[in-house]
Amino acid sequence: MSDSKISSSPHWRPATRLLHAGLERTEYGETSEALFLTSGFVYDNAEQAAKTFTGEVSHYQYSRFANPTVAALERRLADLEGAEACVATSTGMGAVSAALLSHVKAGDRVVASRALFGSCHWIVANLLPQYGVETVFVDGGDLAAWDDAFSKPTAAVLLESPSNPMLDVLDLAAIAERAHKAGALVIVDNVFASPLYQKPLELGADVVVYSCTKHIDGQGRVLGGAVLGKEDWIKDTLQPFVRNTGNALSPFNAWVMLKGMETLALRVDAMTRNAAAVADYLASAPCIVSVRYPDRKDHPQYDLAQRQMSAGGTMVAFEVAGGQAGAFAFMNALRLIAISNNLGDARSLVTHPATTTHMKIGAEERAKLGISDGAIRFSVGLEDSADLIDDLARGVAALAKG
Ligand SMILES: *Cc1c(COP(=O)(O)O)cnc(C)c1O
Repeated sequence: MSDSKISSSPHWRPATRLLHAGLERTEYGETSEALFLTSGFVYDNAEQAAKTFTGEVSHYQYSRFANPTVAALERRLADLEGAEACVATSTGMGAVSAALLSHVKAGDRVVASRALFGSCHWIVANLLPQYGVETVFVDGGDLAAWDDAFSKPTAAVLLESPSNPMLDVLDLAAIAERAHKAGALVIVDNVFASPLYQKPLELGADVVVYSCTKHIDGQGRVLGGAVLGKEDWIKDTLQPFVRNTGNALSPFNAWVMLKGMETLALRVDAMTRNAAAVADYLASAPCIVSVRYPDRKDHPQYDLAQRQMSAGGTMVAFEVAGGQAGAFAFMNALRLIAISNNLGDARSLVTHPATTTHMKIGAEERAKLGISDGAIRFSVGLEDSADLIDDLARGVAALAKG
């Protein structure tokens, strides 16, 4: 585990970091990262085991605590993010729940933006109150509402931008500044922007969480998550929680994600070009009521998105005419683009949030989030954009008929 063997350079640009950062080559000189599919580790003698447990000796103990393949992924993610430290978790929800639950205690207060991924919303709305934590939701775009929410001391803030599914863009710097005055730890779920297009730590966030299931694996194979932040907080607060509650990433999944990271920039850049192209097509197509894409001038927070993100990302949201019946007719007419609630995959996927990912929050909450019955969330893949547009035209033709 000697640091000199770990590959890293402060001068590398992101594409280089994605391939090389964090690699610790073994004595065999393998080109590709080794997969240490092992639950435990052996010691040379009883003394070494004892010294490992007191911390005098640095040695892997057990893969719930640490594993060389998982550690390589953690180093690569931290290097890409510009974070001091990273802990990988079994899923993205493992990352979000650990970040919150390790930090707060009964009697604390947590503020969150209303537009959150479904399970994140559940943790704030249902789970935290069960443990005596007061929780408050805010309309993310309303800075006066944030000021109100921060009028009392606050332990943590959970934000997502762009948000799922309607791609609202929140002013991360302005919210972080207000949150810090209330004493809060600012946690940003950066899945939709990906580590390439938005740097929450530079905008004032304290902690960044990912579902690595999405763009980082990016090929729809394995689940995983990551929490990134300051070394002290990761070591003293988050890591003991993750290690002792068993929220560990499988070394196999970590290895798949290391492979995924090699092509992350290639995939996400190409998917983003496709997303811009299909958003433009949809905006010009009949029977499409509206299109949301952060890099289009008609996005309600276009200027903010230009400041805060370096590209529009891989997700598009749009509303079709005819409500739920229209959305179902559109989706059922597609032959190439699959119906699936996953996202960030190399394959294009659509979902109807009102009846899937955001079904449980209820009609009233959906209305507050602007999720209409005709809304469709589109995770744009790597296919040829002309084929995607041909397929979308099938959906548009079904709308025109209906
Ligand atoms: C998918 C997702 C999660 C949860 O990640 P899992 O890996 O499915 O547990 C959290 N936040 C956002 C924004 C997501 O898209």
